Amino acid sequence: MAKRVPFVGGNWKMNLARASGAELAASIAAAARRHAGAEVCVFPPFPYLEVIHSALGGAAAVGGQDCSDQKSGAFTGQVAASMLKDVGCGAVLIGHSERRHGLGEHDALLSEKLRRAVEAGLVPVLCVGETLGERESGRAHDTIETQLRGCLTAHSEDSMARLVVAYEPVWAIGTGRTATPDDAADAHRTVRRTLADLYSASFSESVRVIYGGSVNAKNADDLFQREEIDGGLVGGASLKTDEFTAIIAAASARAAR
Ligand code: PEP
Repeated sequence: MAKRVPFVGGNWKMNLARASGAELAASIAAAARRHAGAEVCVFPPFPYLEVIHSALGGAAAVGGQDCSDQKSGAFTGQVAASMLKDVGCGAVLIGHSERRHGLGEHDALLSEKLRRAVEAGLVPVLCVGETLGERESGRAHDTIETQLRGCLTAHSEDSMARLVVAYEPVWAIGTGRTATPDDAADAHRTVRRTLADLYSASFSESVRVIYGGSVNAKNADDLFQREEIDGGLVGGASLKTDEFTAIIAAASARAAR
């Protein structure tokens, strides 16, 4: 099995509040300490980044759910990557499907966000994935490749050294419908093939490619058994201590294999 440290992200989206978030973060920190083989990162809403960072106590990282493509200035409502870093973030999600499809974010914009994330010293977690229509019409793999090329072509291999790619089929996010481990592994091979083509085989082998889309305590182990799947990006199940703990444990067990 490839020696990539498993990565588990908990995307809280626009959920929880200060107290409930801090309570959940404390239990996630305990789980991350118990199952130390996986790298864990929690993505809370912006206002709670500092309180969650402190509740995690260094056992897990905190990350932003998005960042601006701009460095600073007159951009009302936006948050700069450097500000995320300044309040303790280690990572940032870029191109989550709820932003690509809900807010019309496109690859050229996401490529600039990637640039800002790297300049700020954050781990960029770049999300890609096809819609149901694209999968049903046999275009899933083309979509993944097009999104990766659109976001990465302007960037050097060196600058992308800490990249994490999250394969998240849109039809599986928040729907309770999970890609089969075979389909997910197949998509992850497309990610790796594209990275090898854009950069190099050794780079492609070094990048963590994680799966997102209704990961839960029951299916995590099956998914993470696959050589191709280096962990998960988790939405709904990251809001429940028992579920998320089981997912962290499954990722950590992968590291021991
Ligand atoms: C996500 O938000 O990235 C996600 C995968 O959500 P869920 O696990 O709820 O499908």
